[in-house]
Amino acid sequence: MRGVDVDDEVQLICHVNPDGDALGSMLGFALGLRRLGFTRLRATFPGEFDVPEPYRELPGSEFLVPEPGAYTDPALILIFDVAAESRLGGLADRLDGDACVVVLDHHASFTGFGTVSLVDPTAAATSVVADELLSRLGVQLDAAIAECLYVALTTDTGSFKFVRSPSVHALAARLIATGISPAEIARRTFDTRPFGAMKLAGEVLGRALLDPAAAGGRGMVWTYATGADLERHGQRPYVLDSLIDPVRGVAEADVAVVIKELTAGEWAVSLRSKGGVNVSAVAAHLGGGGHRLAAGFTAYGTPDEVVAQIRPLLDANLA
Ligand code: AMP
Ligand code: MN
Ligand code: MN
Repeated sequence: MRGVDVDDEVQLICHVNPDGDALGSMLGFALGLRRLGFTRLRATFPGEFDVPEPYRELPGSEFLVPEPGAYTDPALILIFDVAAESRLGGLADRLDGDACVVVLDHHASFTGFGTVSLVDPTAAATSVVADELLSRLGVQLDAAIAECLYVALTTDTGSFKFVRSPSVHALAARLIATGISPAEIARRTFDTRPFGAMKLAGEVLGRALLDPAAAGGRGMVWTYATGADLERHGQRPYVLDSLIDPVRGVAEADVAVVIKELTAGEWAVSLRSKGGVNVSAVAAHLGGGGHRLAAGFTAYGTPDEVVAQIRPLLDANLA
């Protein structure tokens, strides 16, 4: 492994289909490294270079390059919000070189890879780990870094609904003290969607099914969205990510499932529990991962076949 100098190439990577925590912690950290004097910084994620609309204006977006534009032989690789190498797609082979690979993450299902792994399963978001490392490196928060970390923190905590530690609000206070506008950021991140996305949500929620006997009688509610649904409404896949929230609000079910078609017959599955099932274990069984109450995996087949895979695993993983 090589030593790292400020003039060396540094490649930052976050997970496929990036969310606010993946992009926010990665770009916030890149901005911090620039303040330390690093000059060769690139940030990327695997797959199609399609940054979800709500994150296009994030500070540090100038570091973003499509997957083929990533450094081929960087001295340092920093990985954000990635629980398993499978979430790195075609970028996973970069880990085989002699670069120092530092992983910042917060998934209980972290599989263990990289030269150094800074993984705290009790952290509310990867941005909590990023903030800690930035502070140890002596980087002072500024408004640009804070905006990135704030977006990351609010996306992964459901806008502070899932917070269990006062330290999360203490971090939020430090971020807000830099002068960022939480209301403006929340409006851009959570409350702005195209008209077609609302119409699409109406259809997808309208076809949800309630299965009261699932999960040992705790109940499951599920729905799905196809590529054709997206096309009909002229929408990008990211607009489906927020649909798990109304679905998990169904009182009659502990478990909520949204099955989203990525490409023909390949689905990204979101799982949520209110505490009656360990959905991280369910997802891990199906090749995915996540947290006890919020997890996901990639599935193949029809939505009915995907549900048939999940259903017995719910009974086997009651909390
Ligand atoms: P999501 O439903 O996409 O919001 O994801 C919920 C949680 O599950 C997040 O912590 C994700 O990192 C994790 N997750 C989602 N999909 C996968 C996957 N295919 N493999 C591993 N972890 C996943
Ligand atoms: Mn994530
Ligand atoms: Mn995260």
